[in-house]
Amino acid sequence: VPIHHHPHHLTHTHIHTHTHSHHPASTSLHHHTQLQLQQQQQQQQQQVLSSQHIFRNAVLSAASKSVTPISLRTLFEFGKNTSPKTLVLASQFLHNELPIRLSHRIVELENLPFGLSEMPSVKTVHGLYVDSFRLIHEFPKIRSIEDDLKFTDVLDGIKTRHNWVVQQMAQGIRELKKKIGADILGPELQQFLDRFYLSRISIRMLIGQHLALHALTPEERRQAMQTSGFVGIITKDCRPTHVAEDASRHAKQLCDTNYGVAPKVKILGSLDTKFTYVPSHLYLMLFELIKNSMRATVETQRSQRLGVPQEEMSQHLQQMLLRGEKLPEWLYDDHEYPEINVIVANGQEDVTIKVSDKGGGIPRSALPVLWTYSYTTAKNNDAVTSSVNGPSGSGSSLFDPSPSRGQGNTDRIAGYGYGLPLSKLYARYFGGDLELKSLESWGTDAYLYIRRLADHEEDLP
Ligand code: ADP
Ligand code: MG
Repeated sequence: VPIHHHPHHLTHTHIHTHTHSHHPASTSLHHHTQLQLQQQQQQQQQQVLSSQHIFRNAVLSAASKSVTPISLRTLFEFGKNTSPKTLVLASQFLHNELPIRLSHRIVELENLPFGLSEMPSVKTVHGLYVDSFRLIHEFPKIRSIEDDLKFTDVLDGIKTRHNWVVQQMAQGIRELKKKIGADILGPELQQFLDRFYLSRISIRMLIGQHLALHALTPEERRQAMQTSGFVGIITKDCRPTHVAEDASRHAKQLCDTNYGVAPKVKILGSLDTKFTYVPSHLYLMLFELIKNSMRATVETQRSQRLGVPQEEMSQHLQQMLLRGEKLPEWLYDDHEYPEINVIVANGQEDVTIKVSDKGGGIPRSALPVLWTYSYTTAKNNDAVTSSVNGPSGSGSSLFDPSPSRGQGNTDRIAGYGYGLPLSKLYARYFGGDLELKSLESWGTDAYLYIRRLADHEEDLP
């Protein structure tokens, strides 16, 4: 009887009786090998289990360490005088630092409230973080220039594979909202997303800088520094005027695609301001703010002059067209829409950029909600926004400072509800901020504060 309690004995006796009673020799051999196979499998399973265990411990051990924040100035100064040899140091630093940053997110992604961790898209993101952690963790110690180059290739691959994480998380939030029937995120999830996206910005900043330094030869790096002030993706000559022009041009294209018209943008103030910053980050924030202002301007103006509520505008216009009525010419004349002003102020502490529109403003009570992820007043249905002239398909989006390819719809002027909260994170990342003031019925002013002295360390969760 006691034998039956022991699984190993059980299999043994079972096999013996079995072999004796039926086909003695051949099956005995067969069973013998089967037993070996089983043992092998068990061993393998144990090995897998223990390697999983070891890997898990590596994640947890990294997660127990704190991140090392870096200032923009440190990144800039380091990148100024790099040789292939000093770049090895950069790789060594990232080899150590990135697993820490990734592991914090891995652990957090496993412990989200309201069952968010269980949403399919969140699991996908988690898997991506685990894979990237593994790739870096299992990369051998970096000693030589060759190691540095190989490691940099690994980082390049990781950065690309994480391109769509913002959309994937956004999808996860949608999945959760659908499941629990909530409309606006509670503070817990909001804070989680702030931490998550901020950490993502920081990881991409570090990798992006590393890749940019590697993309040029030492001679090319010297030239870039001399001609445009660039060190990697940072420049000491970041000019808000130029960046605002670029952002306006792209926002205009988008607005045109969506509405058949785009308000003018005027840039005022200290036009020759320049300072040390990451222009791709500034572009991204200004692009989001100008898009918002354009949308508000066009929709408010049309709504007031036609006496039709904003939500019903596109339907109203489509019905007019269907009835064969001629649409008023002013609808598509940019002179008929109030200008958007971008004012650049060149302070000692901050460079402040105000994006000011006469787009009807926002009720004061609605202001706090604007900073919650995925809050939008744009209809999430594509017909509203991409019907007028069809998609144009160009440029980069807030989801990724590098030009976006393939996936994701970058043709829409609004609808994700990520423009404001993510822009604020980008601003805060190096010690700045973003605030909105509204004059209800009149317009909105967005104040973008950027730290002028780039000594501020990354503001990390
Ligand atoms: P999205 O543009 O995708 O809706 P955002 O985070 O950029 O997401 O903005 C959220 C909401 O804030 C918008 O849907 C809009 O209702 C409101 N909003 C933002 N900027 C302005 C503005 N300049 N004027 C009026 N409303 C605005
Ligand atoms: Mg927006």
